[in-house]
Parts: sequence; structure tokens; C-alpha cells
Amino acid sequence: MSATIIDGKVMAAAVRDEVAARVSELTAAGIKPGLGAVLCGDNPGSATYVRSKGRLAQELGIHFDLRTPAADSSTADILGLVRDLNEDDSIDGILVQLPLPAQIDTDLVLDATRPDKDADGLHPFNFGRLAQGAPSPVVPCTPSGCMELLRRHHVPLRGARAVVVGRSALVGRPMAMLLLNADCTVTICHSRTSDLAGVCAEADILVAAIGRPGMITAAHVKPGACVIDVGINRVDGALRGDVDRASVEPVAGWLTPVPGGVGPMTVAMLMHNTVALCAARRGSGVPAGSH
Ligand code: NDP
Repeated sequence: MSATIIDGKVMAAAVRDEVAARVSELTAAGIKPGLGAVLCGDNPGSATYVRSKGRLAQELGIHFDLRTPAADSSTADILGLVRDLNEDDSIDGILVQLPLPAQIDTDLVLDATRPDKDADGLHPFNFGRLAQGAPSPVVPCTPSGCMELLRRHHVPLRGARAVVVGRSALVGRPMAMLLLNADCTVTICHSRTSDLAGVCAEADILVAAIGRPGMITAAHVKPGACVIDVGINRVDGALRGDVDRASVEPVAGWLTPVPGGVGPMTVAMLMHNTVALCAARRGSGVPAGSH
């Protein structure tokens, strides 16, 4: 057996087409969705991500407002920018690119974003809705992108055993909640988990969000399982996931590649969130849609 490779680029293109159609509906109703971004610091990875988000927003007809405060900005400086964007009626989604420089209190900044403009779904209000299993127009982009990949490939979810390796607020925790809300039986693993391989090998759906290149091998994978590789690690100038593709591909039923798997979905879901927030806040009569 060899795993079906889940092509995130094709799936992301489908999401982008859906977003473009909803932008057209909003524009026809006289509403142009807007995304505001704050990029602070000189992390080259962050600058590349924000550039690609801005390019895609503009391609889709979403107004993009980029703020680039100096790397030595204070928490108060960044809070001031977030408040500006909160008050700007042309902005529907706000994205604060993480990580912020060490002198800035990231939690305070994320908490200052209006929940109804929280394009990344990281505000405690939206996170709380997700934890309650309540409907919300936004969920964090990377985990919701993973769910789209599972759904669009008809991977069985109800009653499935799902294991998420990683418990960050950005990926692992919301991923586990989304799987739980989709009726999976979920286990979360982390650096203190004993017998990681044994726990992972029980999973019908295994999500690796660790940040350690090639750590998940065939020993962690149940034959036929769906393996979602969230990891993005730069090794000798190339991108590698957390999954050792060479050993896992012959065992798994489905596998997302790196690059070209979860990454493209993350950016597409940010656009989806922005348009969903726009429709919810300003688009009375325009369906909000759901993912
Ligand atoms: P974090 O560093 O915040 O979290 C990593 C998690 O992995 C932690 O919970 C940690 O456990 C766990 N972990 C680390 N080592 C081990 C180990 N040996 N065994 C078991 N668990 C371990 O990372 P993020 O969640 O932010 O990101 C994870 C990966 O996903 C990174 O490679 C990142 O680049 C990538 N990423 C990709 C995105 C995409 O669009 N594709 C978007 C966002 C992130 P503990 O809590 O105990 O420390």
C-alpha cells in the first residue's frame, strides 16, 4: 500500500475560488472586505508569510492594510496599531504576525484585537467558543485548514481515534478541539508523553505539529491511517515536515506532503476567515457560509 498524497495546493485553490465568489457577492452589495496586518520585527520568515498573505488578499479583491512598526516598538505601540485597526470600519480581519519581538506582551496584543475582527481566531473569546463546541465564524487558520483537507478527502471522522502531537495554542490545542467537535475520540501528546510511538500507532488520524524534522516514522503510524504533517522545518535550505515521508508513505492511507500540504491551506483559510468576519459584521443579507 502507498498513501494517497493530499495535495494542499489543489485544495487551497478550491477554497480560494470559494472565497473569491463570496468577495464578488459582497462587492456587488457595495462592501469590500479588508484585512489589516501588523508585522513587527525582522524575522525573515514572518516577512515572507505576510507578503504572501498580502498578495493573495489583493488577488482575491480584499483590501490589504499592512502596518510595519519598528522592531524596537513597545507593547503600547503595537496596542495603538491594533486599536486603530479595531476602529477602522474598512478592516474586517486583523492579523498580528507571530512571533512578536520578545519585549512585546503577545497575550495583551492578541487580547486587544476585537473578537469580531480576529482573523486568526486566537482571541480568547473565539478560542472559548471553539472549546465549548459552539459555532463561531473563525477558527485558527492552520487547524481549520487541516480539517478542510480531511473533509475534502472524505477521511472518516465520526468515531475515529485521533492523536494530535503538539499542544500549542496556535496549532495543537485548537486542532484537538476541532477533531473533538467532529466526533473523533481525541488524544493530545506533547514532550512529556510516555510511549509516544505506542499512542500514535493507535490513531486513525495522526496530526504532527511538533517542529522536529522527520520525528514521526512508520513506527508511529497505524497501517491505513491518515497522517497530517503540520511541521515546517528548514533543513539545509529545504523545507521538511515533522513526518519522515520515506518511511511513512508506504504505511499510511493518506499523507500531506511538506511543502504543498497544510501550508497553502493556512493562507487560504485566513482569507476565508476575513470574508466570513466581513459578512458577519457588515454583510446583512449576504450568507456567512461555513467551514
Ligand atoms: P510549538 O513549539 O509552539 O509547539 C510544539 C509542540 O510539540 C509542543 O506542544 C511540544 O511539547 C511538542 N513537542 C516538542 N518536542 C516533542 C517531542 N519530542 N515529543 C512530543 N511532543 C513534542 O510549535 P507550533 O505548534 O507553533 O508549531 C508546530 C510546527 O508546525 C512547527 O514546525 C511550525 O513551524 C509548524 N507550523 C506550520 C504551519 C503551517 O501553516 N503549516 C503554521 C504554524 C506552525 P511541550 O508542550 O511539552 O513543549
